[in-house]
Amino acid sequence: MAGSPRVGVLALQGDVREHVALLSGLGAEVALVRRPEELAAVHGLVLPGGESSVIDKLSRSFGMQTPVREAIAGGLPVYGTCAGLILLADEVLDGIRGQESFGGLDVAVRRNAFGRQTESFETELAIAALGEPPVRATFIRAPIVERAGERVEVLATLADGGIVAVEQGRLLGTSFHPEVDGETRFHQRFLAHVRAFAAEAA
Ligand code: GLN
Repeated sequence: MAGSPRVGVLALQGDVREHVALLSGLGAEVALVRRPEELAAVHGLVLPGGESSVIDKLSRSFGMQTPVREAIAGGLPVYGTCAGLILLADEVLDGIRGQESFGGLDVAVRRNAFGRQTESFETELAIAALGEPPVRATFIRAPIVERAGERVEVLATLADGGIVAVEQGRLLGTSFHPEVDGETRFHQRFLAHVRAFAAEAA
């Protein structure tokens, strides 16, 4: 496809800048998305890491929850990291009272799943779908996928079997933050979905 895909980063709270830098570095045209009109102008959306309950609340007060849900239902490719994965999950465990998600991914995700001792850690993950080398993964108060539905492909697990990366169609989610490690392969995978979606929409 000629030209670069136009992708959005939901810019209500979280590590928006890291995603923008990484996607720009991969040649994508990147737009900050805070309003429905801005969402309508992109062919893919990143939900950043941050605090899922805050992003949830802001998305509702900005009138973005319904547009994002409709876009996901319409096939928009979405990549969520950490808090973004929580926002993509159909079911959120250990959310704050009244916490909602956009949903779309047929998973149950538990927030802050690693307890206090291991709130933040790094590890290497062998991920067959991405090939060599292994992924250097940074977890920061990270969630874990406790249930994955039949349509969900598990991309990565920890040594204990905990699920930390999933894909369902054009929805991609990771418990960790490739955007802080300069790991580009997940974003490249997301951009491939974005290009396919843009080509269909053209
Ligand atoms: N603990 C955060 C939440 O519940 C996620 C942390 C992160 O995105 N690094 O939203």
